[in-house]
Amino acid sequence: MTKNISVLGSTGSIGVQTLDVARMHGIKVSALTANTSIELLERQAREFKPDIVGVLDENAGKKLKIALSDTNIKVISGKTGVIAAAQYEKADTVVNAIVGVAGLLPTLSAIEAKKNLALANKETLVAGGSIVMNEIKKVGIKLYPVDSEHSAIFQCLQGCPENSLKKVILTASGGSFFGKSRDELKNVTVENALKHPNWSMGKKITIDSATMMNKGLEVIEASWLFDVEDKDIDVLIHRESIIHSMIQLNDNAVIAQLGTADMRIPIQYALTYPERLPSPAKELDLAEIAGLSFAKPDYETFKCLSLCREALRKGGIYPTVANAANEVAVQMFLGEKIGFLDIAEIVEKALSEVNFDKEDITLDDILQADKETRMKFGR
Ligand code: NDP
Ligand code: MG
Repeated sequence: MTKNISVLGSTGSIGVQTLDVARMHGIKVSALTANTSIELLERQAREFKPDIVGVLDENAGKKLKIALSDTNIKVISGKTGVIAAAQYEKADTVVNAIVGVAGLLPTLSAIEAKKNLALANKETLVAGGSIVMNEIKKVGIKLYPVDSEHSAIFQCLQGCPENSLKKVILTASGGSFFGKSRDELKNVTVENALKHPNWSMGKKITIDSATMMNKGLEVIEASWLFDVEDKDIDVLIHRESIIHSMIQLNDNAVIAQLGTADMRIPIQYALTYPERLPSPAKELDLAEIAGLSFAKPDYETFKCLSLCREALRKGGIYPTVANAANEVAVQMFLGEKIGFLDIAEIVEKALSEVNFDKEDITLDDILQADKETRMKFGR
């Protein structure tokens, strides 16, 4: 079990819930990071007394340094601060709860420093899965999934013999716009899109859930974590978000993991594996829920899901490009510069313009493809 953590992105939705788990189980927190949210970061620092705090934004970092000058906590600004937290000597596990591909280099830094990883930042695996998995193999650290679906699959796999997995079944709530037609989606607002039926999360992933890009990113994430191909990953709409995902084994037995929609369950499992400790999450009352429903996803209306599957089949830098195009498109949608349906159009266009056929990709290829896509499609 983890004893000492560094939390990257501690002020976000996953970061805050990670600290809830740490508080409940007395897990020592030795490093914290954020981008600009220094008021919350200061409160967290005063409560958890980490040795170091990283602040990506230089100006915010200067302000926090002054605010914490009555403590022994070292504040480090800029990318150096995030990397220092990812490699902080006293932490045995790094929780990566940064949003977006900005989490990739901190993930690689943590692996280099031989830290175990509790990974929420799915974009790390989508953009750089081949590099990350290779480095993990070389260094021999443990990678624990935090994403609820992947944690569910990981939980279901406990006790299954190696090579017994036939298929993974990723469940999807369907997001804010399940059942809507393309016509109905034309003029939806940012406010509509941010209303997720079951989960309270950061803005980027909530928009990704509405477009179903999130499920597409999760298909790619699952392919790396569980060594499965696109054809062996089913996506199943399950509006209630009670079954967090399932596995089908060679004998066609299906195993599912259920629970209330509370990220503190998967976060805690990633930190306390293989232990099962009490959780602040509510108990599941199936009689009250009464029914669970299932449906096939609508791949035509929610094109991002099919685009991610296509990117996964093509491999190489395609997933990196899909992710980068989506990140800039979501920013533009949140800034009300483009409409909801334009997000998928931008991802589709970016993928259609990929011109790259090298077999083995390097980290530089990934960083370059990410940068070029952002420059080409962001405004
Ligand atoms: P949030 O937007 O709530 O939090 C993001 C965190 O990262 C904040 O601490 C933020 O700091 C920090 N941050 C933002 N940009 C950067 C950057 N460029 N470099 C370093 N740090 C940065 O996101 P979520 O917690 O919702 O999501 C985090 C990750 O977890 C995502 O990859 C998401 O897909 C995944 N995930 C989230 C779930 C959820 O329930 N929220 C569920 C499953 C997966 P600041 O506060 O200063 O902006
Ligand atoms: Mg998820």
